[in-house]
Amino acid sequence: MNEPDVPSSPRVFVLWREAKDTQLRARLGGCYYLSAWLLVWLLGQGMCDHTLAGLIGGVLFFGLMQLRKRHTLPVELTVQNLKRWLNLHWAIILASAFLWGVTAAWARLQPSFDETWALVTLMTIAFSTLHAFNFSMNLKRARLALLMLYVPTLLVMLHQWQQNLSTLITLMFYLSFLLLLLSSSHREYRHTLAIELKLIKRQEALKHLSLTDSLTQLGNRLKFDSLLANMMNNAKRQGVPLSLVMLDIDHFKSVNDRYGHSCGDICLVGFADVMRNVFRRESDTLLRLGGEEFAVLMHNTSHNNAYVLAENFRKALSEHDMPIGEQSIRITSSLGVGCMEIELDSSPNQFVRRIDEALYQAKFNGRNCTVMSSPKRPQKPDTAERNHEPA
Ligand code: GH3
Ligand code: MG
Ligand code: MG
Repeated sequence: MNEPDVPSSPRVFVLWREAKDTQLRARLGGCYYLSAWLLVWLLGQGMCDHTLAGLIGGVLFFGLMQLRKRHTLPVELTVQNLKRWLNLHWAIILASAFLWGVTAAWARLQPSFDETWALVTLMTIAFSTLHAFNFSMNLKRARLALLMLYVPTLLVMLHQWQQNLSTLITLMFYLSFLLLLLSSSHREYRHTLAIELKLIKRQEALKHLSLTDSLTQLGNRLKFDSLLANMMNNAKRQGVPLSLVMLDIDHFKSVNDRYGHSCGDICLVGFADVMRNVFRRESDTLLRLGGEEFAVLMHNTSHNNAYVLAENFRKALSEHDMPIGEQSIRITSSLGVGCMEIELDSSPNQFVRRIDEALYQAKFNGRNCTVMSSPKRPQKPDTAERNHEPA
């Protein structure tokens, strides 16, 4: 549960858990089928009388063992990938069970395997018991595997029921016991999974709470700090612009002083609502950095588009009525806007500092305005200057 790569989506988690368990529990099976077949074939007359059939059986069991080993979990954990992986892995497990069932039934019909028949029966019982215990994640498929292991032998024995009556009855009795056992271990598996899912959901809820501002329900400072570096790296890697808008309510202290702190809180909530109305793209991250300071991170948004949106917000806010008891008031905000510049913004701090300077310039310019950060690129010293540098 503490692994860093545990999927957080409940649907993906259930499939991922089933896939991991299936892979882990099926890992040794291939090797046991192969060894069991080689023992049965080599210990009796089988090798002399049925050399080719024995070799074919060995090759098929070896192939299935290799398939189990090589079929590794998908790198990208999506519902589709995991479902596809599970289908294929179960196809390998069922093919192994079917091959063993058919081989055991065939061996029952060959007198050369009379000496090793007890071994074949013992192995069938062992494999089916392991299936009942190990593959309870998927009840239907595990039942099918049990039937594939058993039914061919049972049919052959039914055909020769007079010689095999006691073994036949014992095997059928044991099969019914295994089917019951499988159902109860499936219930237990589901129960454990439900508890793990509950824990995952709680963990997600806690994570969401720790990254959310409780008053405005926007992301908080922690979210901003943890997102910014990632978003900058993504934008650089994808070669797309990343814009940042920083917003600060004008003269908010006097709103609090005049109408009271709780009215100030109403304005903060109203401010966040206007933000949601203007910055609507799913990829826009809206944040309250603290107090009456806010920010918007906009992936794949150019300098100019960010400026237009910031201005739309500023105008919308200045026209928005904040309900304060019987009356309503209006507030304004100053904004700094800028787009990440690879040469200038070598760190998240530097990027934030540059946009913050634009915001302070907006305050300096008289508030209720937007200032676009104009990147001042470092000037290259010209040739003449360099020529005068001391050698
Ligand atoms: P400026 O235009 O220069 O930004 O002036 P200002 O008054 O907005 O800035 P200043 O930094 O002087 O005051 C910020 C005020 O924001 C002070 C504080 O009372 C208020 N404030 C900070 N957090 C909250 C909050 O959670 N609720 C309320 N109601 N007020 C808050
Ligand atoms: Mg302010
Ligand atoms: Mg402030």
